[in-house]
Amino acid sequence: MSQPELRELYQELILEHSKKPRNFHVLEHANHMAEGFNPLCGDRLKLYLQIKDGAIQDIGFQGSGCAISKASASMMTTYMKGKKISEAKELFGEFHKMLSGEHGTFDPAKLGKLSVFSGVSEFPVRVKCATLAWHTLKAGLEENGKTVCTE
Ligand code: ZN
Repeated sequence: MSQPELRELYQELILEHSKKPRNFHVLEHANHMAEGFNPLCGDRLKLYLQIKDGAIQDIGFQGSGCAISKASASMMTTYMKGKKISEAKELFGEFHKMLSGEHGTFDPAKLGKLSVFSGVSEFPVRVKCATLAWHTLKAGLEENGKTVCTE
């Protein structure tokens, strides 16, 4: 597949997730939560987690923001459901490496479809949109009830 075709496919996936975000709801039985705010773009989200036996049993989010922040949160939640906390943190590390432009150091096989966000690393302002949900997830896992701000 050529580079422009690939890019188009990525854009479609991001657009599709932003229009129909997965796990876009409050989790009634959540036992962990965190909030994220990206003042640069105005993205806001609340993340709800149900953590049991060292794994993310269920996950949901609510919020408003640009297409990239919403699609990123939607795809992140679909990947995280059922993951062990150790796996979730490893995935966070890979995603972060990819977006900080450390190409060649992240493992595309581990990220799967999340690789669609690799192009975002070229746009520093957008990186904060794409990583907001991930930083919020990290806060939810480590410091329950915290608000993270990208500034
Ligand atoms: Zn944004």
